[in-house]
Amino acid sequence: MTPALQSSISRSNYFSNCTHCGFCLAVCPTYKLTGDENNSPRGRLRLWSEEASGRLSKDKWTDFYTEECVGCLACETACPATVPYGELFEQTRHQHVASNRFKPKLQLRLASAAVQRLLIFNLAMLPTRLLRRMGARVHRFLFPGRPAVFQSTAAYADELMQRHRPTGPRVAFLTGCLMEAAFREINFATLRVLIENNCRVIIPEGQGCCGAFQEHTGLDGVEKLRAQNRRAFCSLDVDAIVSNSSGCGYALGKALHPNQQVRDVLGFLGELGPVKRQRANNDETRVYVDLPCHLVHGQKMEGIPTKVLDATGYHWELAPNAKDCCGSGGVYNIQKPENAHAILKEKSAFLNEAEGAPVILATSNHVCMMQWHSAGVAGLVTRPYEVRHVIQLLDPREEVFS
Ligand code: SF4
Ligand code: SF4
Repeated sequence: MTPALQSSISRSNYFSNCTHCGFCLAVCPTYKLTGDENNSPRGRLRLWSEEASGRLSKDKWTDFYTEECVGCLACETACPATVPYGELFEQTRHQHVASNRFKPKLQLRLASAAVQRLLIFNLAMLPTRLLRRMGARVHRFLFPGRPAVFQSTAAYADELMQRHRPTGPRVAFLTGCLMEAAFREINFATLRVLIENNCRVIIPEGQGCCGAFQEHTGLDGVEKLRAQNRRAFCSLDVDAIVSNSSGCGYALGKALHPNQQVRDVLGFLGELGPVKRQRANNDETRVYVDLPCHLVHGQKMEGIPTKVLDATGYHWELAPNAKDCCGSGGVYNIQKPENAHAILKEKSAFLNEAEGAPVILATSNHVCMMQWHSAGVAGLVTRPYEVRHVIQLLDPREEVFS
């Protein structure tokens, strides 16, 4: 049996797992937005299944509804029949792109090629790091921060390890592509927090982009990147492999062997019981915590551990509908900006009335941070607020940008 035939048979089996109960409809952002059955998980599964069985010919509407999906995976969590929607979606999107039924935007095709060569990508993004460091607001997705322009996360890890000489758990850290190239201040904060908590951090050489970018766009390259990361991570003698981005951690987990679990750094710190930050009694900061889809529906974590959020020292609470998608969807806010805007509009509305001075929206995925930052730029949130990664709130050298 050819692999293609085997794959199409197992896809058909998965399609037939769907009992059409409809539990997934209530959690689907595109169904909530449109009320259109075809724009729901059940509807998409039906379209793909009908086409796979030959009862429906290839159709532009199937292509349209496939591309409407944010890829949030909320339907997987809601599904009592454990239909692996995410895997089916990923395969379908890849087939659509490979057969030219759908063409990702040019900027995404270029970025997909660039992130597969991290040296070049980091060099190409140097002006972005420089502009962010200078405080320039050049793009709606670029939240404030002061990344190192030249020093890499690996070099900073060496410096900190030599200075502090921690003796605790040995952890391998995924530095990421966009995180390292544009937002490496979050990587630096992660290193400081891990080392303050006595972790010995190593940055595996030869690691690559996790492949999430290609998964989100349907473009080629995932298998090559997964193989590269297996070479970089699989032979390491470490207590944990950690990631500070829920989407990247989820994608890396799919690449590695099943006995090498990738841990979200906040989940890992929750087990250690992190050092607590002290705040002034009259600190009126209020932190609203949003939970990335790939943390709760991908990595299947309940949320960010309470111990970690308490250790920030701030008054915190979960954002309303914290487990709902913010509309970012990896690159969905570039592919489908109108939908992403509408989802964000509803999700971010509470910030206009939220108590606190300052107000911080904290999450654990840089791509979600970009989306949350854009709510202010787009005028959806008209009062001042800051967007932060939770790890930055634990950082002994926390920076304030407001
Ligand atoms: S992944 Fe999200 S947007 Fe796509 S069908 Fe499932 S719930 Fe809807
Ligand atoms: S919840 Fe699962 S079984 Fe029910 S309609 Fe949705 S995908 Fe099908």
